[in-house]
Amino acid sequence: MYGTIGLVAHDDRKDDLVEWVSYWAEALGATRIYATGTTGGRIAAALPALDVTLLKSGPLGGDQQLGALIAEERIEALVFFVDALSPHPHDVDVKALIRMATLADIPFACNRATADAIMKTAAAG
Ligand code: PGA
Repeated sequence: MYGTIGLVAHDDRKDDLVEWVSYWAEALGATRIYATGTTGGRIAAALPALDVTLLKSGPLGGDQQLGALIAEERIEALVFFVDALSPHPHDVDVKALIRMATLADIPFACNRATADAIMKTAAAG
């Protein structure tokens, strides 16, 4: 399983991400989670046993912090539940984060089906 993972969800997808983390909570038990502020706060409140490091809120720099951690090779996988139906004022930050994950060639998912797939792959060893 991943030693570290980055988690972020746009507002309309936060419930879905908390539900996804709940589903994979046992597998993530020994994983350090780095999450943008609001997303991470929701995860930590729902699943207090998990190791969650809160970054700044996404629109206030949290997405860029995640990108920097990826550049430093401190995040092994990224799950970013994107709201594909709404515009976001920090869209450039979102693009930059996705660019860093692409460049670093880490597993990253923007929807649940892919997030499940990368967890199943990691769980299989
Ligand atoms: P948030 O940031 O978890 O602080 O809401 C997510 C985002 O980038 O929109």
